[in-house]
Amino acid sequence: MKKLVSILHLLGELEEKLVAESKRPDRLSKLGTPPTNVGITERDAVLSRYWKYVDKREASQCWPWKGHTNEYGYGVIQIQNRVLISSRVAFVLSTGRDPIALVCHRCDNPKCVNPNHLFEGDDKVNHDDAVSKGRKQPKKIK
Ligand SMILES: [Zn+2]
Repeated sequence: MKKLVSILHLLGELEEKLVAESKRPDRLSKLGTPPTNVGITERDAVLSRYWKYVDKREASQCWPWKGHTNEYGYGVIQIQNRVLISSRVAFVLSTGRDPIALVCHRCDNPKCVNPNHLFEGDDKVNHDDAVSKGRKQPKKIK
């Protein structure tokens, strides 16, 4: 199985880097210390790009991803040359940690990135969830 990318790590790498424009010397104060408003960091830029693709609605509704989707219909976004599943990114942004397993959708809408609709589960949890929703036949016990 492919090793999962640590989204938290990728976002952490972005955090300190300022986007080129805000590094201009005229943005620095005369004392040589950066002004409190140093402009947007690369992380801010990435996150604002992320949220541009989200059709944010009511907390209870699905928030459809407007960007690219993969072959399974899940939203994807490229960050630091890595293609990430947008619902996994939403999970990291809402919980502050990497999912250790699959990020599943309560709403069964693969494009949805509403953190309220996402939960973490392993293959078994995902399978049982699908069975309970009548999408899959239960595994036969011999
Ligand atoms: Zn949803």
